[in-house]
Amino acid sequence: MPSPTDDRADAADDAAHELALGDDLRAFVDASPSPSHAVAEMARRLTGAGFTELAEADRWQPAPGGRHFVVRHGSLVAFRLGSRPLAESGMRLVGAHTDSPTFKVRPHSDVRQAGYRLVGVEPYGGGLWHTWLDRELTVAGRVVLRGGETALVRLPGAPLRLPSLAIHLDRSVREGLTLDPQRHLVPVWDQALEGEPGLLEAVASAAGVDVDDIVGHDLVLADTQPAARSGADGTWIAAPRLDNLGCSHAGLLALLAAPAGDRTQVLVANDHEEVGSGSMAGARGSFLEDVVRRLASATDSGDPEAGHRAMARSILVSADMAHAVHPTQYDRHEPAHRPRLGGGPVLKLNANQAYATDATTGGWFADRAAEAGVPLQRFVTRADLPCGSTIGPLTATRLGIATVDVGSPMLGMHSCRETASALDVPLMVDVLTACFDD
Ligand SMILES: [Zn+2]
Repeated sequence: MPSPTDDRADAADDAAHELALGDDLRAFVDASPSPSHAVAEMARRLTGAGFTELAEADRWQPAPGGRHFVVRHGSLVAFRLGSRPLAESGMRLVGAHTDSPTFKVRPHSDVRQAGYRLVGVEPYGGGLWHTWLDRELTVAGRVVLRGGETALVRLPGAPLRLPSLAIHLDRSVREGLTLDPQRHLVPVWDQALEGEPGLLEAVASAAGVDVDDIVGHDLVLADTQPAARSGADGTWIAAPRLDNLGCSHAGLLALLAAPAGDRTQVLVANDHEEVGSGSMAGARGSFLEDVVRRLASATDSGDPEAGHRAMARSILVSADMAHAVHPTQYDRHEPAHRPRLGGGPVLKLNANQAYATDATTGGWFADRAAEAGVPLQRFVTRADLPCGSTIGPLTATRLGIATVDVGSPMLGMHSCRETASALDVPLMVDVLTACFDD
């Protein structure tokens, strides 16, 4: 019989495990200032675990049990093939997204005014832009070189900022801050010195390439402050980009932890969710469908029906962050549906199909949570407020795969600095692992 001392030791072990996974999420976020970096970090971890990369342009001959991943720009699909053909056993899929609201560097980005050098940027997604003021920022992403090769780059240090205007220079801010993205959200880089190199020269130097070899770029602003433990007991995580690196990380850990089985297990992390998913790498694009059809065909002697049969037997868990109830503006939540930080995964439902969950898929997910010993919270939005959405309904619409929308609770979604709980990290990893292992 375990003694109270054993129980205390177990509890301490559990707490250490939760914080370790929370710390691992922090490291994942710090390594992922842009979608390209997030994909590279996932690829690095997958490679370390024995997964190998497949190129879309190559002929695939995956063997049963094969572990591979495919990259399309800022998106990644990773999979572990089951021992049976996809058409016979179906798949268990987890979907997330790699992008977050930010600012994208313009083609002609060198701006000089008022004795400063600034960087011309364009807002990306629906950010809470005021939270980007007075923070230590950098530029990160990928550059495309002559010949088509790409290189990841992050400017060292924290060279950029968006300074607030002093209250003494505009007291109307007391009535509410209004930011015009074209005029006000232009980060300053330096005091302009004649003859100083421009941003692209700095990017080339950080990437170790010749500036004349850069023929294109996907560069975004990124907060440089490392993700931190916060809250009274240190179990909260304060970090940029938790939406949706939080669930990308949990999905990845679950895929790595899940045992091999009959069924094929697939993780998809799409770019461009924050701008509607309409791109070749986004959830409205063909990426996931292309991979699934190829795998179904390869595991079923090229049968043209294999893809349809595989999708009819599959379930997708669309994992994206969820709104925890706010400490002071709790009335923004439906009173009977108020997820809390640390309370476990949130099952998201919406009568108007902003979430893809239905009774069957929601019930299946609740079963997996019970099996994993993971508590489940439920979210519906207030009847008088609009509802956000995810890649879930888009993927379900495109592929006809039964889908459930879930997420980990967080505060301040789309802030430059968001808040989640380390206690939710192992809970989401455990339930997603159970989904893969179903
Ligand atoms: Zn999201």
